[in-house]
Amino acid sequence: MTAPLPFLPFSRPTIDEATIAAVGDVLRSGWLTNGGPKAAAFEAELSSYFGGRPVRVFNSGTCTMEIALRIAGIGPGDEVITTPISWVATANVILEVGATPVFADIDPVTRNIDLDKLEAAITPRTRAIIPVYLAGLPVDMDRLYAIAGKNKLRVVEDAAQAFGSTWKGRRIGSFGDFASFSFQVNKNLTTGEGGCLVMNTPDEAVLAEKFRLQGVTRSGVDGIDVDVLGGKYNMTDIAAAIGLGQMKTIDAVNAHRRRLAEHYFECFGNQFEAQTGAQLPLAAFDTSNWHLFQIILPDSGPTTRADFMTRLKQQHQVGTGFHYAAIHLFSLYRELGFHEGMFPESERIGRLTVTLPMFYAMTEADVERVVAAVKAVLAK
Ligand SMILES: *Cc1c(COP(=O)(O)O)cnc(C)c1O
Repeated sequence: MTAPLPFLPFSRPTIDEATIAAVGDVLRSGWLTNGGPKAAAFEAELSSYFGGRPVRVFNSGTCTMEIALRIAGIGPGDEVITTPISWVATANVILEVGATPVFADIDPVTRNIDLDKLEAAITPRTRAIIPVYLAGLPVDMDRLYAIAGKNKLRVVEDAAQAFGSTWKGRRIGSFGDFASFSFQVNKNLTTGEGGCLVMNTPDEAVLAEKFRLQGVTRSGVDGIDVDVLGGKYNMTDIAAAIGLGQMKTIDAVNAHRRRLAEHYFECFGNQFEAQTGAQLPLAAFDTSNWHLFQIILPDSGPTTRADFMTRLKQQHQVGTGFHYAAIHLFSLYRELGFHEGMFPESERIGRLTVTLPMFYAMTEADVERVVAAVKAVLAK
C-alpha cells in the first residue's frame, strides 16, 4: 500500500526567513503602526515599481477601491459599471459609497468584462467603471481607456490579482487612472491582509490619507483638524515589513508561476478540451501574472462541480477553489432587482469555474499530479 500524497492546497503563501526576521525587528522596535517607517518605505518602493506614481497603502484591497470611488466623488445617483465575475467586494464598494452598481457580462474566453457590453451599458448617469483583471489577465487596456476618455468616466482598476501583470510591456498600475491592488494572503504579493492604491496626483494622495485615518490632518506640534469623513484603514508596520520582504521576490514569484502555467498547458495537451469539453484559460503569457489557473468544466460532464471538487480532494488530495460565483445572483443583489438570465456567460462560468493549485512553492511534479487527477475525474 502506498501512503497518500500530502494535501496540495490551491494557494499557499511563501514568507522567507529574512522577512520573518524583519517582522521580528518591527515587533521589537516598539513602533507597530500609525505613520511608521516600514509603511512609508513600502509606499516608496511601490511608487517606484509603478513608475513614480503616488501610492498609499491600506489594510485591504476592498477599502482601497472604496476610497478611490470617494476620491473621485462617486456617490448617490451615480452609476458604476463592473463585472459579475469577481470577488463580491468589487460590487459592494459601489453600494458602500451609495452609488448604483451596473453589471456588464463577461467575454467567455478572457472571463473579464466584455468591453462591447460595458460600452452598451453606459448611460448619462454613468460616472465610473471598475474593470477586474481576473486571474491577473488585464482587459484590452487601450480600448478600456478609449471608452473611458470618450465618455469622461473615471476608472478604478480592480487590479487586486494583477500585481506584476503587464500590457504591451508596461506594468498594470504604472499608467491609467486609479489602480487598486490587494495583498490578501492568496495574492502573488501578500502582507497577510492589505492593499495599495496607485493615484494620479499628490492632491489625490492627500485625500487618500484622510480617508484612510478618520479624515485627520495634523499640523505643527498639536494642530489637528477633520474635514472629511474617513475610516480606519491604515496598514500596520508589521504588514508593511512583510510587503517589503515580498517586493524582493515578486519577480521570481511571477516568473515561477508563469513556468507552472506553461507546464499546465503542456500536461493538459492539445486534446484535453476536445476530449472533455472543459475549457483552459487564455494562454496569455505576454500579460498575465498567472495569479490563478482556472478551468471551466463542461456544462453536462460526468460530474457536477461539487462532485469534481470533492473527488479531487478525497481521492487525489488536491485542493481547488471557485473564483467566482456571479455577484448579481447573491441575495443582496437579487433584492436590488438582479436575477437569473441577465448575464448568461457570467452565470455559466460562475457555476462551472474551478481554480487549480498555483503558488510559488509548487513544483512541476505537483502540476503533473494535478493534471493527472483532473483527467482521471473527468474521464467517463
Ligand atoms: C482579493 C480581491 C479583492 C479584495 O481584496 P481584499 O484585500 O481581500 O480586500 C477584490 N477584488 C478581487 C478581484 C480580489 O481578488
